[in-house]
Amino acid sequence: MQTITVFRGDGIGPEITDAVLEILDAAGAKFNYEIFDVGEAVYQKTGEFIPQKGLDSFDKTKVLLKSPITTPIGKGFRSLNVTLRNKYDLWANIRPAKSNPCLDTLFKNIDIVTFRENTEDLYVGKEEVIDDNTVIAYKIITKKASRRIIKAAFEYAIAHDRKKVTCVHKANILKKTDGLFLSIFEAIAKDYPQIESNSLIVDNTCMQLVMHPQQFDVMVMPNLYGDIISDLTSGLIGGLGLLPSCNKGDTHAMYEAVHGSAPDIAGKGIANPTALLLSSCMMLEDLGQQKTSAAIRKAIDAVFTDKTCLTPDLGGHASTKQFVQSIIDHLKKDE
Ligand code: NAD
Repeated sequence: MQTITVFRGDGIGPEITDAVLEILDAAGAKFNYEIFDVGEAVYQKTGEFIPQKGLDSFDKTKVLLKSPITTPIGKGFRSLNVTLRNKYDLWANIRPAKSNPCLDTLFKNIDIVTFRENTEDLYVGKEEVIDDNTVIAYKIITKKASRRIIKAAFEYAIAHDRKKVTCVHKANILKKTDGLFLSIFEAIAKDYPQIESNSLIVDNTCMQLVMHPQQFDVMVMPNLYGDIISDLTSGLIGGLGLLPSCNKGDTHAMYEAVHGSAPDIAGKGIANPTALLLSSCMMLEDLGQQKTSAAIRKAIDAVFTDKTCLTPDLGGHASTKQFVQSIIDHLKKDE
């Protein structure tokens, strides 16, 4: 049986982790778990934000199911998420936003997969104080990192029978950095004549996404735009509670919800665990447990169709526990 590492996160992290592990067990997922608490509360007790044993576990298992971790704003420690992505060179952040026909959302038929470069750009937070009046942030774009994420987006398009890849940039203003990203995109696109390719400036992209989102298929972009655009795509399909992701490198993979630790609802027992659950489905599929993943996806659809057990973010009144029980009931019905 495969062993995977689990970080329970903080805020709503522990609630949704426990929910997902319960569903994975009920669905018969063939995993052993090494489970660790991470984040500031752990630091206060142990002096470590991520326990060394947790990192040793991920070193060994190479697969991490990770719940959100709070990052202080404007002060304090560096994001543990950014730290993990860089430490393990998890260079591709893949975020599939697919509307669920069983839910009432503004748009139907959305099926957008965002490929977000995950190791450089402004998002790594390399900043310096120049003097009392001036601070600076480095936007670093390299050929190596751009090539591998853009190539991965096209390879994904081929493997998943997708039709189009769109590059998102601001190369009209950032001529050197985004200009490099765009020029690499245009060069690589020539190697994939069977896939339609186009590029859009990021501000126009935002408008197009909220007006005509069905035009998008696979999208590829530098780190910071990927962070913002993928939250936007989650809004198109019903909110952050629904958007899964996988952070992949050459050797390790980390599966996590796109959303954060949601401090506004933490501890209330009403968090929607679907995003982390769908991330675990991506993990199951990558690890050869397609049947288990399909059963969980079917149970999610059944609960969404039923509508009697939706969490408040989806317009319902159910608690996380009631939602989980409803998923498990549907899994058992289909056994
Ligand atoms: P957030 O994603 O935590 O929350 C935004 C809004 O969406 C909130 O109203 C929240 O209640 C709602 N929401 C998010 N997930 C939900 C869920 N599963 N069910 C129901 N509602 C949900 O964003 P934020 O408030 O800007 O960030 C909070 C903290 O999370 C910050 O410290 C941020 O740095 C951190 N963060 C961590 C990650 C990560 O660990 N990968 C990602 C994003 C943000």
